[in-house]
Amino acid sequence: DRLTDTGYIPGDGETENPLRPRTFSEYIGQDKVKENLKIYIEAAKSRKESLDHVLLYGPPGLGKTTLAGIVANELGVDLRITSGPAVEKPGDLAALLTNLSPGDVLFIDEVHRLPRTVEEILYPAMEDFALDIITGKGQMAASYHLPLPKFTLVGATTRAGQLSAPLRDRFGVVLRLELYNPRELGLIVQRSAKILNCEIDADAALELASRSRGTPRIVNRLLKRVRDFAEVMSGGVITLNTAQVALDRMEIDELGLDQSDRNMLTAIIKNYGGGPVGLETLAAATGEEAVTLLDVNEPYLMQIGFLTRTPRGRCVTPAACAHLGLPVPSRLRD
Ligand code: ADP
Repeated sequence: DRLTDTGYIPGDGETENPLRPRTFSEYIGQDKVKENLKIYIEAAKSRKESLDHVLLYGPPGLGKTTLAGIVANELGVDLRITSGPAVEKPGDLAALLTNLSPGDVLFIDEVHRLPRTVEEILYPAMEDFALDIITGKGQMAASYHLPLPKFTLVGATTRAGQLSAPLRDRFGVVLRLELYNPRELGLIVQRSAKILNCEIDADAALELASRSRGTPRIVNRLLKRVRDFAEVMSGGVITLNTAQVALDRMEIDELGLDQSDRNMLTAIIKNYGGGPVGLETLAAATGEEAVTLLDVNEPYLMQIGFLTRTPRGRCVTPAACAHLGLPVPSRLRD
């Protein structure tokens, strides 16, 4: 398992996750997104209508599922969770939708991966709260128009551009989640430590925060691992020294880069003179999947100014070379 994988890995305990915020006040950061959602929720409540459909996009582990839960909680309705690949047939979606109560929130993770046939019956469901289903073929064909309870679809995707235009257009609210800064991640990890009944020094919290590549899921995962080291090394208290030793042992450097990030940057520098190099070429050179490089490695490497994306491919920056202790390729010097 990659410790800094931004995606869910077993052990995160997502289903009944005690670390998952349940209200806006517990949800740290993403202020713009929160403020917008609060207004839309208030307005929907005062009009006694269902909330408009919401699309959340941004890298994995930033709190999209959590937000969907908070939205349902604030609306006082139930949340149903599914994902694009799990809804294989139109009938699967029909079963989900007909079981909703009025106002419920249906969360579809990886909404860009819904099969096209399912997407097509989702359009009228989102727009008119009805299902149009055709059964049988030829003379035996019959069409049914099935009214649905009004519901709110919260869709999540890593990149808004992955969605088909007709689907994207049916979301009234489109919100982008940003990577968190170390201060926010420090607050998140302190909150999590309190819930887990574990003592953490302020400087240790900041150390974990600054090595978590802007991602709450990672800071929580690192906390759980570092806690084990603290049991053995420092009487259960996470001190700065314990945190540093543990993180170094896990090969997560002081900027939060792991072996995969370093491989990617090193490949661009050593094999391609610093870039530009295409994504697929880079995936082949590093043995990583292109989508992993795109969704997991790149957002953070770009945020810290180690990588730039040009129409001709990816380029590293002199800062990345300095961090890795490699000479700056001549192409980057002029
Ligand atoms: P996503 O759906 O975007 O992949 P999740 O909503 O599953 O991400 O969040 C991953 C974990 O990170 C959650 O279990 C939660 O504990 C934590 N988390 C996410 N966002 C926040 C936040 N703003 N404040 C505190 N904890 C958060």
